[in-house]
Amino acid sequence: MLTTLRKIVLQFSQEPELDVALKHLVTQVKSAMQTDCCSIYLADYQQQHFLLMASDGLASDSLGHTTIGFTEGLVGLVGQREEPLNVANAKAHPHFKHTPEVQEEELNSFLGTPIIHQRKVIGILSIQQRDARSFNENEEAFLVTLAAQLAMALANADKNIGVNYQEHRPFQQLTGIPGSPGVAMAPMMVIQPKADLQRLPLQKVYASVEQEQRFHKAVLKTRVDFEAMSLKLSGVVGQESLDIFEMYKQLLDSANIGHEVEEKIKTGWCAESALKLVIDHYAMQFEALEERYLRERASDIRDLGNRILFNLQQLSFEEEPLPEEFILVANDVTASMIAEYQHKGMKGIVSLTGSNNSHAAILARAMGLPAIMGINALPLNQVNQQPAIADGYSGDLFISPDNSLIQEYRHLIEEETALSEKVKAVAHQPAITPDGRPIELVLNAGLSAGFEHSQKVGAVGIGLYRTEIPFMNRSCFPSEHEQTLWYKEVLSAFPTQAVTMRTLDVGGDKALPYFPITEDNPFLGWRGIRITLDHPEIFLLQVRAMMRANSEYKNLEVMLPMISGVTEVDDAVRLINQAYHELCTELGQRIAKPRIGIMLEVPGVIYQLKELAQRVDFFSVGSNDLTQYLLAVDRNNARVANIYDYYHPAVLRALNTIAEESHKYLVPLSLCGELASEPAGALLLLAMGYDKLSMNSYNIARVKWVIRHVKMQRAKVMLSHALTLTTAKQVHNYLNEQLEQLGLGGFIRAGM
Ligand code: PEP
Ligand code: MG
Repeated sequence: MLTTLRKIVLQFSQEPELDVALKHLVTQVKSAMQTDCCSIYLADYQQQHFLLMASDGLASDSLGHTTIGFTEGLVGLVGQREEPLNVANAKAHPHFKHTPEVQEEELNSFLGTPIIHQRKVIGILSIQQRDARSFNENEEAFLVTLAAQLAMALANADKNIGVNYQEHRPFQQLTGIPGSPGVAMAPMMVIQPKADLQRLPLQKVYASVEQEQRFHKAVLKTRVDFEAMSLKLSGVVGQESLDIFEMYKQLLDSANIGHEVEEKIKTGWCAESALKLVIDHYAMQFEALEERYLRERASDIRDLGNRILFNLQQLSFEEEPLPEEFILVANDVTASMIAEYQHKGMKGIVSLTGSNNSHAAILARAMGLPAIMGINALPLNQVNQQPAIADGYSGDLFISPDNSLIQEYRHLIEEETALSEKVKAVAHQPAITPDGRPIELVLNAGLSAGFEHSQKVGAVGIGLYRTEIPFMNRSCFPSEHEQTLWYKEVLSAFPTQAVTMRTLDVGGDKALPYFPITEDNPFLGWRGIRITLDHPEIFLLQVRAMMRANSEYKNLEVMLPMISGVTEVDDAVRLINQAYHELCTELGQRIAKPRIGIMLEVPGVIYQLKELAQRVDFFSVGSNDLTQYLLAVDRNNARVANIYDYYHPAVLRALNTIAEESHKYLVPLSLCGELASEPAGALLLLAMGYDKLSMNSYNIARVKWVIRHVKMQRAKVMLSHALTLTTAKQVHNYLNEQLEQLGLGGFIRAGM
């Protein structure tokens, strides 16, 4: 059963034309389930009906014409109830609707199941039979499983079916998750990930001659690579090991693979997609074999495919000069990519994966770069160098925009600039409410750019320096000397104010190219302090460099990330003390000892605040991770982005408890997650009693403006009401209402 199911779904997703794919699907399901009819209907939400798209059993004239209203007939009932309906005698059912043109008089039993994608019914799959009988449990289970698997393939149909949109529409609009506010207008530049056929989205381009040429060149290059590899290794490894290259070369020469790829290209697939379809097909045939040795050859085939893919991608993207300005586009935009392209004309970011709290989005906000995340329907292979508008407020991406749209966006940019000008007026005023409650606004930093700007906007120190960022754009760990130079630069940016440096926080979604970590659950794995305690040599070197840099400035605070218990704090403090004493001896003088604090981002620490308070000098809440761990929702996963919400009552109550407890134990408290940079978030935190808010430089003046316009009294009323609400939605509605009443609606519209 499983094999049949897999086969049906695979064939469906490999078929280029949607109507052909649906036609094959119904025929295969009808035959697999040995029934008399199988049909598929797709939902049209504008017309509020299901359209009969394909059927093996109903009259062919009705296909593409017959519609059934969302509230009509058995099909409508399946959609309304969002569950399977299994009836032995359909005509006797009170919801049965007679539709003469489908000619179903002889069909008595009916089993229909909804096809649901992201909670929305997108279609109905049904089978019918002459015998008036209920379908059995296995049949029902098969249809339900098939529908669940089809949902994803169907939802992606738009992308996979490969309508070449440029031929049909003046411009293409796609929507992702708003990752960082602002608008970028520039050509797109696609950065290709490491070649991986399995993760490659299917695309059509309808340019077969050119695609065939690309494919042949890539094959040629791959053959040359194999020859060079086996030459290099001959004499170093035995002949058996070299046989693998021989086998690869034979596979490359195999007329079948090349021929089949060409055939696929002729039907409109781009070379990469055609290669993927053929390699998948062969690999699956090998995977299904009984004999282990042969079964394992599937991975050789995939490897070969990836090597050809790599060469194909190199042909397209290698040596392409960077345009003066561009929007960086990649399947997975990473923090290290941003670090690499930050000074090279990057105006915005578009990532097919990730969400608004991925580190890439956070960095984009810190740099004032508009970003769109999780826009998975973007056909990477078709958009390189195309002009685009990336709207980081709404998450809309417009490809090849027309003049009127460009004008509209120019107007929006002007409005946004006017708001920035308005808030700049308070940059050098203190952050204090009209009734006299002060709060410190400090900077989140990590990129070399931005210090100058942040002084201008009125930050009074650095609340979070993410040291991992400079570790990223390089090929090995930096030396103590190199680190000392970086840290001096940071400490000197605010020589009379505290600068909080966080020790290396890699793992999760932040990888170092020269220290790869592969884990099933990276956010729950080897991350932050867990790594550095396991590698004291890295930790000691870093804190030595920090303290060495600080011997001149004396404004350093050291902050430990991802703390989950007191032992980690004790171990880290012991190492810091060791480094301190070593350094004093080396320098022959007592140098300034930094204050040590911890990040509160693992929920478990909320229940250990008393013990932690005895060990450190300050707490800083990492609300980005605290939200992720408290709500058990991956901050990087676009699929669950709607659940990730700092305004969730559980998060607000946890933040409030932390503030109450920290006051009780007299520990200074700050918050350095993204919540601090939102006007409503800042007001709530102010009311809770946070002493310091740390945010990116672009939001400091704005938050200051808000603080200076709202009385503490009013903020407290907002907080006490917000804490009584039961859902995140209620909290959002309430806070937006309040901001409108306070005359701060412009800030919500500006996407802050
Ligand atoms: C946080 O988790 O809120 C935080 C500030 O750290 P990061 O976003 O770097 O994980
Ligand atoms: Mg964190």
